[in-house]
Amino acid sequence: MRTAVVLFTSDLRVHDHPPLRSALASCERVVPLFVRDRRVAEAGFDAPNRVAFLADCLADLDAELRARGGRLIVRSGEAADAVAEVVRETGAVEVHLAAGVSGYAQARERRIRAAVGRLGGVLRVHDAVVTVVPPGAVVPSGKGADHFAVFTPYARRWAGEGTRDPLAAPRAVRVPDGVRTESLPAREDVDGVSPGLARGGETEGRRRLTAWLRGPVRAYARRHDDLAGDATSRLSPHLHFGTLSPTEIVRRAREKGGEGAEAFVRQVCWRDFHHQVLAARPDAATEDYRPRDDAWRTDGDEAEAWRRGRTGYPVVDAAMRQLRHEGWTHNRGRLLAASFLTKTLYVDWRTGARHYLALLVDGDVADNQLNWQWVAGTGTDTRPNRVLNPVRQGRRYDPDGAYVRRWVPELAGIRGPAVHEPWKLPARERAACGYPEPVVALADGLARFQSARGLDVTRRS
Ligand SMILES: Cc1cc2nc3c(=O)[nH]c(=O)nc-3n(C[C@H](O)[C@H](O)[C@H](O)COP(=O)(O)OP(=O)(O)OC[C@H]3O[C@@H](n4cnc5c(N)ncnc54)[C@H](O)[C@@H]3O)c2cc1C
Repeated sequence: MRTAVVLFTSDLRVHDHPPLRSALASCERVVPLFVRDRRVAEAGFDAPNRVAFLADCLADLDAELRARGGRLIVRSGEAADAVAEVVRETGAVEVHLAAGVSGYAQARERRIRAAVGRLGGVLRVHDAVVTVVPPGAVVPSGKGADHFAVFTPYARRWAGEGTRDPLAAPRAVRVPDGVRTESLPAREDVDGVSPGLARGGETEGRRRLTAWLRGPVRAYARRHDDLAGDATSRLSPHLHFGTLSPTEIVRRAREKGGEGAEAFVRQVCWRDFHHQVLAARPDAATEDYRPRDDAWRTDGDEAEAWRRGRTGYPVVDAAMRQLRHEGWTHNRGRLLAASFLTKTLYVDWRTGARHYLALLVDGDVADNQLNWQWVAGTGTDTRPNRVLNPVRQGRRYDPDGAYVRRWVPELAGIRGPAVHEPWKLPARERAACGYPEPVVALADGLARFQSARGLDVTRRS
């Protein structure tokens, strides 16, 4: 009987899982393997919120496999070593893996290929598991172009690509007897988890997707920027851990149809866009994609006030406090808080990206670093010097102030949009609420940024 190993990474599901289905088609026995990779921890990427969410995902994956007669095998160590160990122990002839995009994922794939090759086995890498369209599948016409650097033309080509048919979950998974496994990690054992962290796992992801497509998606085009309305899908952690297949999401949303579903699919396209940029330019995780000769101000009291949600700008602070409480925040909140740090405070985007990665349950190298670069103007944004004004942003996307009141209790007693400008309140009221004064005047921050970037006029929104 032939045996294959399926290494689960950012694809913790049984539905629409090409590596698992392919392994089952060519081998009678399969070892579903997850490696708690020490390199991930060494890189500081094991943030408590993600470790806790991961524990839910692994428990659910194990349950799904057990329901099919199998189970999940968990090992710790370096991924290639652990895979080689399992190949040796079980005599596996094939290893199946979803293609990843980060520099780390690319190096891991090379190491696994070499280790498996030394044992006489083969590594089969599957595209379109982590993304809808594989990086490099659509590229601009022109010599030597290996990725799109601008979203709109990419989205046009992406939409015309079509998708493969989603695969059903397998009916049966037969695991060889006696394969050693470590116990599954438990969410309760993780310290420092955000109190409002969502639950992980494929079952929960599928429930959320079905509920989302059944109704709320219809209003997405109109309401996705409504901070208080919380009218987005919240599927990002499930996409990050692969408890949902992006291909299945897009197929089901397109079947649903309508302007809401279309707008939603366009956001999923942003995810593919960032993945194809990072696949071609793995160094963009740490280096400016488009250097602007920035002499960033260093981390210090102002950046600390930003991290703690005490900048004195209510909508920025609300977003930062939601982030800490839930390990997730609304896209508009992420945008305006990132703009505040990089443009108004003119602090290096890497400082902000590090903080987001320490808390975000969906914290993802491609989506986080490249969105940060986009906001900082060192990435793919075609308006690199745009500065978001937090008062105007607050008035536009939280017109009644309900989002601020939800997350900034000091201001909960202030009615209506006045909550966005607490410095205009009478002095006694201001002192009583205990909310900080602005860390910097917006005009001063803007002038500092303009001068640093050598600009005379900056468009603001
Ligand atoms: C500074 C900054 C950092 C970010 N860091 C991350 C991150 O680490 N991980 C992450 O998944 N997203 C990140 N985003 C993108 C976006 O904010 C989140 O994907 C979104 O808020 C998740 O909520 P949702 O699932 O309800 O999104 P929805 O609005 O329902 O969108 C559906 C899906 O589309 C994708 N998507 C939406 N917007 C974007 C975008 N701008 N870029 C890439 N994909 C997108 C996500 O997978 C999302 O789940 C970041 C955005 C900014 C501005």
